[in-house]
Amino acid sequence: MMQKGTAEAADKAKYYDYLEVQPLPNYSQLLEGQLVSGPAHLKDIIGKIVQIGHDLDKPVVATGDPHYLDDHDAIYRHILINSQGGANPLNRYPLPDVHFRTTDEMLHEFAWMGADTARELVVTNTHVVADWVDADITPVKDKLYTPEIPGVNENFEKDVMVTAHQWYGEELPEIVANRIDKELKSIIGNGFAVIYNIAQRLVLKSNKDGYLVGSRGSVGSSLAATLSGITEVNPLPPHYRCPECQYSEFYTKGEYGSGFDLPDKKCPQCGAELIKDGHDIPFETFLGFHGDKVPDIDLNFSGDYQPVAHNYIKILFGEDHAFRAGTIGTVADKTAYGYVKAYERDTGKVFRGAEEDRLAKGATGVKRTTGQHPAGILIVPSNMDIFDFSPIQYPADDQSAAWRTTHFDFHSIHDNILKMDVLGHDDRR
Ligand SMILES: [Zn+2]
Repeated sequence: MMQKGTAEAADKAKYYDYLEVQPLPNYSQLLEGQLVSGPAHLKDIIGKIVQIGHDLDKPVVATGDPHYLDDHDAIYRHILINSQGGANPLNRYPLPDVHFRTTDEMLHEFAWMGADTARELVVTNTHVVADWVDADITPVKDKLYTPEIPGVNENFEKDVMVTAHQWYGEELPEIVANRIDKELKSIIGNGFAVIYNIAQRLVLKSNKDGYLVGSRGSVGSSLAATLSGITEVNPLPPHYRCPECQYSEFYTKGEYGSGFDLPDKKCPQCGAELIKDGHDIPFETFLGFHGDKVPDIDLNFSGDYQPVAHNYIKILFGEDHAFRAGTIGTVADKTAYGYVKAYERDTGKVFRGAEEDRLAKGATGVKRTTGQHPAGILIVPSNMDIFDFSPIQYPADDQSAAWRTTHFDFHSIHDNILKMDVLGHDDRR
């Protein structure tokens, strides 16, 4: 006959696929509280969990709950936990010993249960659970997955060509035709047309709503971006072009740094005032020397309009396919040094200067907060799920936030999922 508490625990255990127990030192803080009266009581509880597992035919697994690699790294965790203040329940002494234990160490920790049980918990059952997991899981993908929009390649090419002919005539100058050909081959060949298309739609909508859009960053080196209306920067060499008869005249030998430097001139064919254009930026700046770098298109919207632009992406792709890029804030070196000083003050310990530096170094770079990128929106293809790329969360756990963010820092999935930088700037100044 089970005791009441054990029966209740057994009932709850039915929900789980396997049960976990940890080495006795991991529970050191429980012994300080009211719930567990001492080491004998703790062993009794662990013994009952193992028994429940046997009764329910669920594997019981010994886990180490490691928080750092080696024993001697414990001091860094103590310093970091101390920095969070006494309100944190973790911050109660004695802090448990939670280094990464080897199999031998784990067997040793469970030897009090008898060698057979120790082996079952530490070796046999860990393999049972590991075998449940598909062997080919990779936390981060190795390819770029862009959203698919039907007909996007053809439509993009058409948009580019229509403007090209409007500006440079029915028969395109060789320099223009070559540049377009090179860019389209690379953009369409790598599946990047969809990125341009999204940028096009955002710019179009903002302009229609009465807000001009600036672009910055490398997008200015793409003629296809110019011709499709994403940017006003024309990366061709300095040149004149006629708005009336499409006459053009290029300067390819470095005579002028930019089209803006050209003197005013009238069209030799029809007498209209010529447009001066061209900033001579190679396409390689944008897509890398092999034309395969994932393009970074930064669009700069009016600060007032930025939330609208963000929301428009959500409307285009759906609530479950657009997420804010998550960021991870880490402990900076100066902050870590402050933590070490506070630890010395709070514990009455005194370290030498070199030791303070060493401890500060060890606590630097640890995750401190999560946040969201101010502008980056990640777009998940319609046939995929955000969880193919990253877990998600609300920024700083605020469930009322308008946007969910990726849990992974976006830098770590930058090459797998499309990110649009939709910036806002204060243009009222
Ligand atoms: Zn003309």
